[in-house]
Amino acid sequence: MANVFEKIVAGEIPCQKVLENSQFLAFHDINPKAPVHVLVIPKVCVKDFNAASPELLAQMSGFILEVVEKLGIKESGYRLITNVGSDGGQEVPHLHFHILGGAKLAWPKLF
Ligand code: AMP
Repeated sequence: MANVFEKIVAGEIPCQKVLENSQFLAFHDINPKAPVHVLVIPKVCVKDFNAASPELLAQMSGFILEVVEKLGIKESGYRLITNVGSDGGQEVPHLHFHILGGAKLAWPKLF
């Protein structure tokens, strides 16, 4: 069964789109953890960072830089996170980077 991000790519679930190209989609997180909280996903099905090819990650990096530029946080700063697997707290099994910014972010102890 398709997961929520695959449904967003297929247009079956709406999203608040920030930027899109033929390979990637960026949209606002539904449960923001910072003033700016955007998710970047590939349109192809890739489970997580472990399963991503270096080529895809290189292209995704370029797209993420376009997104932070568009969001106006490239110079003020931001945090880029990808959760992997159980210990990483990954909820949706489709590769995604969280872009967090828009405020001075805390760096809490995570365990
Ligand atoms: P992770 O825990 O790294 O797998 O993060 C999944 C993220 O997806 C969470 O921050 C959720 O708030 C977010 N999320 C889940 N469903 C949606 C949705 N329909 N639209 C936007 N963000 C979503």
